[in-house]
Amino acid sequence: MKKALMTSIMLLTSVPLLAAEVKGMRVWSGPDNTRAVFDLSSQSDYKLFELDNPPRVVIDMPKSALNTQLKVKKNKDIKKVRYSNKDGQLRIVLDLHHKLNSKSFLLKPNDTYGHRLVVDLSNEKKAVEKTVAKVTKKNRDVVIAIDAGHGGEDPGAIGPTGTYEKDVVLKIANELAKEINAQQGMKALLIRTGDYYIKHRKRFEKARDHNADLFVSIHADAFHSNKVHGASVYILSQRGASSEAAKWLAAKENKSDSIGGVVIEDKKDMLSQVLYDLSQNAAMEESHKAAQSVHASMKKVVKLHGHGFGQANFLVLKSPDVPSMLIETGYISNPGDEKNLKNPAHVKKLTKQISQGIRHYFYQSPPPNTWIAAQAKGKKHVVQSGDTLSGIASKFGTSIAAIKSINNKSNNAVRIGEVLYLPN
Ligand SMILES: [Zn+2]
Repeated sequence: MKKALMTSIMLLTSVPLLAAEVKGMRVWSGPDNTRAVFDLSSQSDYKLFELDNPPRVVIDMPKSALNTQLKVKKNKDIKKVRYSNKDGQLRIVLDLHHKLNSKSFLLKPNDTYGHRLVVDLSNEKKAVEKTVAKVTKKNRDVVIAIDAGHGGEDPGAIGPTGTYEKDVVLKIANELAKEINAQQGMKALLIRTGDYYIKHRKRFEKARDHNADLFVSIHADAFHSNKVHGASVYILSQRGASSEAAKWLAAKENKSDSIGGVVIEDKKDMLSQVLYDLSQNAAMEESHKAAQSVHASMKKVVKLHGHGFGQANFLVLKSPDVPSMLIETGYISNPGDEKNLKNPAHVKKLTKQISQGIRHYFYQSPPPNTWIAAQAKGKKHVVQSGDTLSGIASKFGTSIAAIKSINNKSNNAVRIGEVLYLPN
């Protein structure tokens, strides 16, 4: 009798606990959070808790084992990682530099990785401190949010020689920011500044939080044929894609959140659907104008794919009120494009044209209270036959340098029909 009871207790406690081997660890740090990802051999039970003095996060995994050395390179949040493996219980401890809030979840395998345990560490106070005040400064700069696609756990597409899209687009985004910041009246805001993942929604929310006037997402995707090459500009389509290629690209892009490690949450929308649709219609019109301007500018110096303009249902472009576009700077799957995207001279040429296109759009459609709006409202001069820059400058009582600065001209040449803005 006693023996039978014992057996039943044994059976009760050995209700299958899911156990796994920990095969590796990656750490990605962004400005607001740090993500530690543990690769697991299979789905596993785990328990996670936080402790103080010193601040640390403890992860217990029953019946699990470690199959690797866990190490953390110099990191702003995690001081070091320790572990012990006693009586079949694996304990991993993340020693932190300061107290942080932790969030954890398991991820199922995708194309790139297998089962994973994700631990997100963040300082939530920071999020609360977010500025709410709208910028109402007069003559402010227009703000252009530049979003380098992918990052961290999501490499994006991979080129024939092993180039990661996430690395190439971060460099291009940085170059574009430089080009934009060099122009009067324009200011760049980088959405991603390092190698970490940001979910689609957070990307455009960051742009909104900073009162961005335009959102530009930078990509360099792959196609199933390595012959396909050239750049393209895309805007959102709620109805359907403008081409099969556009549809295919959007479907690939939209998978990023699951590769980057985002758990699909319930859809709490920041605005009701009706409001959302209304404001998005206005933003769509502006998106179209801005994208066409950038497209026209790029066309002058960069090889485009087909017409180089398309529409598809890209999640990252779904900001309700910030005009948005996505630029495929080339197909990283094409050897020629891959080489170009890594070539600083090509990147310079490309980003110069993109920033010119953006600038042109803002002069056509300036947001109120901006420095550009003040210029665009001012006098203009259409260049006539026989005009020279010095002649125009003296006629309007200004200097060549001032005209060149406003019109972002690098030399003194003018052409008939060119519209020149004149300093107020
Ligand atoms: Zn991409």
